[in-house]
Amino acid sequence: MSDRRLRVLFLSSEVTPFSKTGGLSDISAALPRALSGWNCDVRIVTPRYGFIHHDHHGIVRLNGPLRRMSFRGQSLPFGFSRFQDGDGPTIHFIECDSLYDRPGIYVDPFTRGDYIDNDYRFIMLSRAAIEMCEHEDWTPDIIHCNDWQTALAAFYVERGRHRNQWPHARTLLTIHNIAYHGLFGTETLERISDEAPKFFYMGGPLEFYGHVNFLKAGLEFTDAVSTVSPTYAREIRSSYEYGYGLETVLRARGEDITGIINGIDTDIWNPETDPHIAATFTIDTLERKALNKSALCTQMGFAIGDDIPLIGSISRMAIQKGFEILLPVLHEILELPARLIFLGSGDPHYEHVLKEFARMFPDRIAVRTGFDENLSHLIEAGSDMFIMPSKYEPCGLNQMMSMRYGTLPIVRTTGGLADTVVDASDPDRGTGFCFTDYRSDALLDTVRRAVRVYHEKPAWKRLQHHAMSQDFTWSVSARKYRDLYDQCLLKPPRVLP
Ligand code: ADP
Repeated sequence: MSDRRLRVLFLSSEVTPFSKTGGLSDISAALPRALSGWNCDVRIVTPRYGFIHHDHHGIVRLNGPLRRMSFRGQSLPFGFSRFQDGDGPTIHFIECDSLYDRPGIYVDPFTRGDYIDNDYRFIMLSRAAIEMCEHEDWTPDIIHCNDWQTALAAFYVERGRHRNQWPHARTLLTIHNIAYHGLFGTETLERISDEAPKFFYMGGPLEFYGHVNFLKAGLEFTDAVSTVSPTYAREIRSSYEYGYGLETVLRARGEDITGIINGIDTDIWNPETDPHIAATFTIDTLERKALNKSALCTQMGFAIGDDIPLIGSISRMAIQKGFEILLPVLHEILELPARLIFLGSGDPHYEHVLKEFARMFPDRIAVRTGFDENLSHLIEAGSDMFIMPSKYEPCGLNQMMSMRYGTLPIVRTTGGLADTVVDASDPDRGTGFCFTDYRSDALLDTVRRAVRVYHEKPAWKRLQHHAMSQDFTWSVSARKYRDLYDQCLLKPPRVLP
């Protein structure tokens, strides 16, 4: 690691506690904070969505002339505001009510469809972030883009090099989930820039089966690519099944993709201090975990006092998360016996089937839809096991949070799950229960095995001890990002004609 203090512009479409749909939000708050400890001056840029209120959070509007961003044929007013929490990284919000003053982040909660102007919304974010730096006269060394929503910043920085703008800066694009591309019709091209159409031809950097693809554009123009676990880095290059059509673009980049596992915020996810749970506990007072199980069961309307294992799930209800292999064996799992709690929302079909099960077996299965931060903590603390039978999982945070709370994960060995959970068959290191084949019978066998071990109390306790002793702090991962930034700066910039 070099001694130089690096300036990092960190772009993200969601940052906790302001906006969140999933793991990206957690990472966008925790990684910049941890990077400060590795000699980085990080500025986060994100939209101020309508539900983020200035007064509530102490966000300060920055004065100065209202700016306008032109999108070929129309121009939209925008501005900046700023949030500073102690000596943590500064968060710069992009103010643009016409694009961001909505109740949803990507999806309209009323229609359940994507906002139809998501191209404008995220072109604005990438371009305004660069303008923000110029406005502040602050030249970054690294522009760290995250997922399709901010991938185009790599395009703008590369194009800027032709005008000698930021010649020494380098871009890094981190893939948090390659299944989401940001696909738009060709009318989007001219909204990106006057030059964008020249990169749109069959197989060209902006083209993907006749559509404009923001993530592909980012992958083509960025100086370096990373993703959120070493296994996912291999998987997304290996086949269409994992690469979602971008595997060839990734392979063309050769060895350029680094996999760095995410950390979790161990201040927020700490069973010793967690204010959201019924009883705090540590590895030495693990018996107090039972108080959380009782509280959770009571809240869900389950009986308490019997010794039926409780399996938790907190998840977007999307195909990625393995509901298609879980639902067919739900009945068998309940009969083991086991109880299940689901918190999450998404695909209406999954929500409907789960709610039907809950109606039929109210003492065995509970379903809560919507986003509930408090309940998510109690589920982590009060469950015995946490189920993640993911079809693919770039990193996954919940398995790490679960382990910290002595809640043993049941996972499919894919992506970050493969990199963080050790199967119980390893007596010295086991931290959970793993299976490989993406099939219902493989999942059911593994849940059966977990329930069997659950009733062998000393073995269960040993696994809980291993799980709770893991180090999932951000510090190690942040150091790897810092090293990656240093490597990026040593590389020649990527320049397309
Ligand atoms: P992904 O980003 O694919 O959704 P991750 O495991 O990386 O999955 O991160 C999900 C994050 O979102 C975790 O912090 C999880 O606890 C949280 N989360 C997901 N759904 C809900 C919900 N309905 N209520 C509260 N927290 C949720």
